[in-house]
Amino acid sequence: MSLKSHLIDCYRIASFPARKWNFAKLKQAGQVPIYSMFYHRIADKHPNPWSMSRAEFEQQISWLQQKFDIVDLEECQRRIRSGSNRIPTVSITFDDGYAENCDYAIPMLIERKIPITYFVTTHNTFDQVPFQHDVDLGQPLATNTMDELKEIARSEFIEIGAHTRTHPDLGKIHDEARLIDEVITSSRELEAVVEQKIRYFAFPFGQRENLNAAAFKLLEQEGFLGACTTINRWNEIGGDPFQIARVHGDPSFARIRNWLSFSAELDKQPHFDY
Ligand SMILES: [Zn+2]
Repeated sequence: MSLKSHLIDCYRIASFPARKWNFAKLKQAGQVPIYSMFYHRIADKHPNPWSMSRAEFEQQISWLQQKFDIVDLEECQRRIRSGSNRIPTVSITFDDGYAENCDYAIPMLIERKIPITYFVTTHNTFDQVPFQHDVDLGQPLATNTMDELKEIARSEFIEIGAHTRTHPDLGKIHDEARLIDEVITSSRELEAVVEQKIRYFAFPFGQRENLNAAAFKLLEQEGFLGACTTINRWNEIGGDPFQIARVHGDPSFARIRNWLSFSAELDKQPHFDY
């Protein structure tokens, strides 16, 4: 264990009574918030900041199964909308569309009957072009093929979601035609390939500065059920169910346990205003 992980664990254990008290209060009030997690790539080779090893992933998923009800995004939204929740709840999502997820993570999740939403960038998968963020690291990595996406989409536990055409920073796109192409047209093309209605969207990068109010409006108008961000926070019961904040599936188990233990620090950042 690294020194940093050790320090996080010490902090988590020292603050355990406060967290336990906080959780008890939330539970009593029927206000236990909903977590959503996002992962990218599960693989043992070519580690980078958006990958984690098979063993790290297995450890996190097993822990989540013990501590949480793992549900799909639609059930998360139902619990948010209901105005009352006492069950620790999490949903699991993946962004981008990396080929290696088909080797271990996806079969493992299907075997455990864990629902996931798998957000795909169409240009990089359909045209087999590595992501710029991997090229920039000098490590172009394989993306899912169209055939893999079709196969994944056939599982009853996997819903395919949209993640734009070229993975741009949508916070910087103000041209309406470009925005429609990245957000809507590419989603319709994905729909045609996987032969499944695309109901959810995840903003590339997903931090506050990468979000776009016009894109939120377009998604609502076009009948999407929700849009995911990466603002590191939980989702309050009774809050806006359309905008779903997600916690990074960090390789550090200590950090994940710290974030997902109902510590009040996870609701400090506001949602995006659109
Ligand atoms: Zn992405």
